[in-house]
Amino acid sequence: MHSLPLADIQLTDTFWSRWQNLLLDVTLPTQFTQLVETGRLSNFEKAAAKAGEFEGLWFNDSDIYKFAEACAYALTIREAPKVRECLNTVIQKIQAAQEPDGYINTYFQLGHPDMKWRNLNMMHEMYCGGHLIEAGVAVFECLGDRRLLDVSIRFADHVASVFGPGKRLGYCGHEEIELALLELSRVTGNATYRDLARWMVESRGSRPSPYEAELLDPDACSLWPGTGSLLVRDGHYIGEYSQDHAPIRDHTQVVGHAVRAMYFYIAAAELADGTSDEALEAALVRCWDNLTQKRMYVTGGIGPSASNEGFTADYDLPNLSAYAETCASCGLVFWGRKMLELTGNSEYADIVERALYNGVLSGISLSGDHYFYANPLESRGTHKRTPWFFCACCPPNIARLIGSLDRYVASVSDDRFYIHIPTGFRCQTTIADSKAGIEVESDYPWSGKVIIRFKLDVPVRFKLFLRIPEWSENMEVDLPGADEPADYDNGYAVYDRTWAPSDVLKVDFGMNPVWVEANPKVRENLGRVALSNGPLIYTAEECDLGFAPQLFAANTDATITVGKTSGLPGLQTLTVEGFAEIEDDEEALYPSEGSIACREVSARFVPYYAWNNRGANSMQVWVRKA
Ligand SMILES: [Zn+2]
Repeated sequence: MHSLPLADIQLTDTFWSRWQNLLLDVTLPTQFTQLVETGRLSNFEKAAAKAGEFEGLWFNDSDIYKFAEACAYALTIREAPKVRECLNTVIQKIQAAQEPDGYINTYFQLGHPDMKWRNLNMMHEMYCGGHLIEAGVAVFECLGDRRLLDVSIRFADHVASVFGPGKRLGYCGHEEIELALLELSRVTGNATYRDLARWMVESRGSRPSPYEAELLDPDACSLWPGTGSLLVRDGHYIGEYSQDHAPIRDHTQVVGHAVRAMYFYIAAAELADGTSDEALEAALVRCWDNLTQKRMYVTGGIGPSASNEGFTADYDLPNLSAYAETCASCGLVFWGRKMLELTGNSEYADIVERALYNGVLSGISLSGDHYFYANPLESRGTHKRTPWFFCACCPPNIARLIGSLDRYVASVSDDRFYIHIPTGFRCQTTIADSKAGIEVESDYPWSGKVIIRFKLDVPVRFKLFLRIPEWSENMEVDLPGADEPADYDNGYAVYDRTWAPSDVLKVDFGMNPVWVEANPKVRENLGRVALSNGPLIYTAEECDLGFAPQLFAANTDATITVGKTSGLPGLQTLTVEGFAEIEDDEEALYPSEGSIACREVSARFVPYYAWNNRGANSMQVWVRKA
């Protein structure tokens, strides 16, 4: 299966349309201002002029590229002159900065021209170049503009002239170029890029690692003096930080830097797709299962630790100190889509949905111009989204994901049409060699009621694969002539029939608020519950409760009421019953047991993604169970 081209599908629901309009009107214009004001864009001007000092972090070029990619996607939603102008400016600056041999990285061009490709593990040259390629492919495919694609091809050819079989053994510490080379190969039809990507994926984890030589090179280490601290344990190189600990087929669990891991496995999944490489697919499934069954927050956040921006141990999921970088959840969504395409199993779509509606979306404010880097599941009032970061990987990453959301809701494959996420959309595509229009009308994620309309010129026989969400306990279907699916396949209800030109399928997934518990091995959450409704995880904020949610204990037997709040227009809230300690009367540090008074309270919960939009205040996802 494969996603539809972005030009062939439009999101029409009120939920995601709002985010996509915000992307065009607020998010991208304000990000462009940040790219200019922080010197990211002028680094390219300086590189073109071969004069001036590099400003910022050594991988800042990647923010420009991800921004360009996001603009390309966004302009398939609708025309926006301001965004088109920003994109055009960026493309021109990038073109001008590229060196004649195809190399482009403004940090090295301006400050270290003699040190190119010397510290692959930490200096992100191929990582930045990978984002250049992704942008080049996006601008070409979405807008028919090949200027950035040509820059990308020259860069990729330069990389291929230095690295590869019979040349230098080397691959980037921060994976990204592998998946980008696969995209470039798909678009250009040039197998060289695919072969290079495969070689990079399969070389990683071999011994001796090329990074071991870098650690012995004082000049290479001087580029990033902290290199050794993340790569060496007890005097030995270990490689986990960069997934360089073992060859891909021997991987059993996710380790190291979370974003690096996600990008690596995206490329590996793409390489496994369409082949019968069972060992590679098995390794990917092992790592995915380890991640989603033992190392993922209920919000789809991943990578609990700030110290390595990544993974620690199974079931180590602290709430208050959760790192759960926005980029890591974006990466989980990207990888989940590839695994879904590889296996056809709805479990991957379940995780994509969980991350999208929770851990990804919490990374951006409802106003579209403030961001979280870390996405904790508890706050004592010290967290606050900001307009930008010194290390600003997350804002353009979430922008490119929101711009390309349409890729995640549906797929097509020969005589099959898949609906993965039943959000409102309309599309024009070809199924079973016939043109077909399909429209989904829904109020997702606020309601599980969905209407699917078929717009066909003539009757067409094809299979509709409708994902049964993991949270759906009672799915009801109204389809004249066939109330039951023909079959169930990998978590999808399959309707195999000759569809009439104006058939209508009505579905009710039975969305109801429910409490969930964590596996007791997650010690942090013992005696605690989290509230969910359909794809959304809910959370309690002090501004709704009138007291810190840490004081609240939920009565999980009480009725849960669906409502709204004027502070968050358009959102559904859930009001639950419970108890709260009264803290005002108690002055002793250790009073005797039973002396702290409690009162019965109602508590309004809001969707997790929407927290922290009414000022900094205390928040808790996993509340105590009364
Ligand atoms: Zn990030």
